[in-house]
Amino acid sequence: GGPVIAVDGPAAAGKGTLAKRLAQALSLPYLDTGLLYRAVGRLALDAGQDPAAPAEAFAQKLSPEDLARRDLRAPEVAQAASKVAAQPAVRQALVETQRRFAGERGAVLDGRDIGTVIFPDADVKLFITASPATRALRRFLQLGGDQSAPNAQAQVAEMEEALKVRDAADSGRKTAPLQVAADAQVIETDTLSAEDVLAQALAFARR
Ligand code: C5P
Repeated sequence: GGPVIAVDGPAAAGKGTLAKRLAQALSLPYLDTGLLYRAVGRLALDAGQDPAAPAEAFAQKLSPEDLARRDLRAPEVAQAASKVAAQPAVRQALVETQRRFAGERGAVLDGRDIGTVIFPDADVKLFITASPATRALRRFLQLGGDQSAPNAQAQVAEMEEALKVRDAADSGRKTAPLQVAADAQVIETDTLSAEDVLAQALAFARR
């Protein structure tokens, strides 16, 4: 089949931006696997459930409509996603969906455990990272924040705290923790533009 490219890393490191551009450059389908966990977290919240409570029933019946909801980017959904993602049964329910997505054609997938658990034999494994301060500022701007607003600094600081909490939970969980695969190429993006990151990733992919 076609190539599988795994793009893993902490929250707001630029995985999505890179993965989308890579997929376009290589004519491969792209899957943002974080959306699966966000949709499960959203359904748990909608049901009035604590996201730490068993949520695999939501993971088993995820629909395309659940994944297309526009409110999946909200910070409270990210936190809920991280909580449901710590449940082994939720992760198990989503494994096949992710593997099937790559199918015969291959794919670019971004997430936390693509190169370690979902596709341990991926053709290319990239680990995209940046300092918490860089990631918080990028997420702030991405969400439409105005850097010249009087409370911008406080908002970015608050985002940085939330990212750190989520990274700690994602790295510290027992099942499929966020970690660098032994054979992954690490790209530190603090001082790189999106174009630079794509160029480095393509160089690795074409080796
Ligand atoms: O990537 P994104 O920020 O959308 O992911 C939301 C949450 O979903 C992460 O904090 C993580 O807990 C979980 N996730 C995961 N495994 C993936 C993708 C996301 O555990 N492959």
